[in-house]
Amino acid sequence: MPANTPAWVTTALVERRAQHLWRQVEAAQSPQSVQLTVAGQSYLSFCSNDYLGLANHPALKQAMADAAHTYGVGSGASHLVCGHLDIHQRLEEALAEWLGYERVLLFSTGYMANLALISALGDKQRPILMDKLNHASLIDGARLSEAPFRRYLHNDVTSAAKHMQRLDQAGILATDGIFSMDGDMAPLSDLAKLAQQRDWLMMVDDAHGLGCLGEQGRGCLALCDLDDAQVPLLMGTFGKAFGVAGAFVACSNDLADYLTQFARPFIYTTAMSPAVAATVLRSLELIRSDEGERRRTQLAANIALLKQRAATWPFALMASNSAIQPILIGPSDATLKLSDALAEAGILCKAIRPPTVPPNTARLRITLSADHSLEDVTRLCDTLETIFNQVSK
Ligand SMILES: *Cc1c(COP(=O)(O)O)cnc(C)c1O
Repeated sequence: MPANTPAWVTTALVERRAQHLWRQVEAAQSPQSVQLTVAGQSYLSFCSNDYLGLANHPALKQAMADAAHTYGVGSGASHLVCGHLDIHQRLEEALAEWLGYERVLLFSTGYMANLALISALGDKQRPILMDKLNHASLIDGARLSEAPFRRYLHNDVTSAAKHMQRLDQAGILATDGIFSMDGDMAPLSDLAKLAQQRDWLMMVDDAHGLGCLGEQGRGCLALCDLDDAQVPLLMGTFGKAFGVAGAFVACSNDLADYLTQFARPFIYTTAMSPAVAATVLRSLELIRSDEGERRRTQLAANIALLKQRAATWPFALMASNSAIQPILIGPSDATLKLSDALAEAGILCKAIRPPTVPPNTARLRITLSADHSLEDVTRLCDTLETIFNQVSK
């Protein structure tokens, strides 16, 4: 053991390996797309969140290059000091108009947006209640606040209502729109009704719905016919369907002013790069355009084909209609073996294991993109069927 590594570090690492939970970062040698080169090998990839295939889109690459010339590459300061440029303002206004909210605040990542929101809104007198399977950043936001923190059973409105009853004070109800490791959608209408009845403030994280679902890609809220009156706080990210980076929170003028005063992860950080803001604005145009609509149609066709083929498989797809279509396997080692067998056949789909998911629910998290063709999805299904046949022998 090297002198600069404490023994507890080595012990923790040995344990992780033994539990088949070892993780490591691997560099890809190609841009992010459905064809990904890793360690010199080309793979057909089914594991990115680039659902609309925009991360390497020529129009967006051009937009970023142009924006770097026009606005520079760094914002140089926080939004409150002097880092908020005209292009940030234009992006905020375009998002607010698209989604029907009074105001939008930008963040450099979704993780920070959720930390900011939940930690600023929660309080000793204002509890935080969220779905058990919410994204880690929402949970960490609750940990950062001083608020009482409870989690209800996944997508269970009755369980949420019971917690509200017991807490006895109105607070913040937060849920993912689409759950990132399961792909299913929250019962948003029922949750919104419950929140309104009990005077709780409802917040939806639509990282996986925006761009992909609803009219003009407006996401889960559009799909459920909900607006800013029922869901006063909507959070979304630009690193997934938007294909770029960053995030936002949409809300009322007063809530935005409140966050501007009290959300520390908003106040004490450098504003998003103006070149990124300009690229996100271009991506939003694309998402709202006919091309965006065509991409959503292709994505939906890919999802439908996969679900149809999976109906006869020995391992079931989880109950999802979104671009996230995980196959539940269970044990981590068996899931790793399936992922390795796919890689042997030139297909990239990573095993998702605890602690990202609950114990004994390791899964192959298949994600589909508008850039996949029906032939790509067919190849994935054929390969999986061959592997399942070998495993069952
Ligand atoms: C990815 C994700 C985030 C974090 O967004 P980043 O911009 O990647 O930091 C937050 N919430 C959900 C549900 C996510 O899937």
